[in-house]
Amino acid sequence: MFRNFKIVPNIIFGRGCFNQLDEILSARRSNHDSCIVFVVDDVFENHALKERIPLKNRDMLLWVNVDDEPKTKYVDELTARVKQHNANLPEGVIGIGGGSTMDLAKAISLMLTNPGSSADYQGWDLIQNPAVYHVGIPTLSGTGAEVSRTTVLTGPKKKLGLNSDYTVFDQVVLDPELTQGVPADQRFYTGMDCFIHCIESLTGTYLNAFSRAYGEKANDLCLEVFLEDGLENADKLMMASYFGGMSIAYSQVGVCHALSYGLSFVLGIHHGIGNSIAFDYLEEFYPEGVAQFRQMLDRQNIELPRNIMHDVRDDQLEKMVDVSLVLEPLWENALGSDWKKKMTRERIRDLYLRM
Ligand code: NAD
Ligand code: ZN
Repeated sequence: MFRNFKIVPNIIFGRGCFNQLDEILSARRSNHDSCIVFVVDDVFENHALKERIPLKNRDMLLWVNVDDEPKTKYVDELTARVKQHNANLPEGVIGIGGGSTMDLAKAISLMLTNPGSSADYQGWDLIQNPAVYHVGIPTLSGTGAEVSRTTVLTGPKKKLGLNSDYTVFDQVVLDPELTQGVPADQRFYTGMDCFIHCIESLTGTYLNAFSRAYGEKANDLCLEVFLEDGLENADKLMMASYFGGMSIAYSQVGVCHALSYGLSFVLGIHHGIGNSIAFDYLEEFYPEGVAQFRQMLDRQNIELPRNIMHDVRDDQLEKMVDVSLVLEPLWENALGSDWKKKMTRERIRDLYLRM
């Protein structure tokens, strides 16, 4: 069976295009009393961007904190606050921030129209009802959350996305100017998320010409951005993120992401940094990608955290192995249909213990 997947129908790209948000949203507002919810990373609370958000009288500005990656509990709380603000459904939910904030906005837009807790929908195609119209506006490039059909959430039992066609944004606004001011290490780690998406897609068994076309371009863009200086690097990285996301939409990620999910669930390590930590030990799976990764690390002067398993208890290590083993499609993409013969609990444990 071929996958028939949904993609974002409307995209605007260019420096300064954020200024057109008001116009884009005015087409959605049904009357003077309409309500649009802006879900914004609180890093912008004292930033000039705050003044540029096109708020109208009944709109809601919802600052969100992403010091921790999005949790189902947090999504449920935020959704309840939106419901409290307005008796009717809002006409739009607009996420402005990095992957975490965009995922929160996606999840809120879904949970406004689907009953229960967001934890009930962690999995594939469990969402029953279409979401409220939702828009993604990245301020940090790399995750591909702006194009994907998932919102990655950590729940009481697992870290797993709400994967569905309804999750996909209705509109994305790609304005590279918004990524100015991202700290250098964060820019690198989130950028490496994109690079690793490409490597895992391009070396995977699920690869087809569609994924290859997007993956190769995104891969080249990442190398340009992190190995050369250029005035258009922010633009290029934003497009790399988008293309990297498109590449994995038709393929899958692999060993690095499977391990990174375990690091995140047990140790709370953020996605981009967890990927970078893990990837440096995966030469046997991705020799060329790891060599390029180290060149970029060097060029960008980034010091990876080391010895992170130093204080980890055995039960925590076992939990990491559990979390990572659940991600069967990732292992299958990386190692083939007989992956279970190649990747045992022992071997995963050994990989973690190197970090
Ligand atoms: P993030 O959203 O967690 O943000 C990282 C840090 O950067 C935060 O402190 C944030 O406040 C700050 N930041 C964001 N934009 C900034 C700006 N312009 N200036 C200064 N600081 C800024 O980071 P991320 O790497 O973009 O996202 C990681 C999250 O995305 C994880 O939760 C991961 O699970 C998720 N993810 C989702 C998908 C998907 O397809 N939905 C794919 C990959 C990762
Ligand atoms: Zn990723």
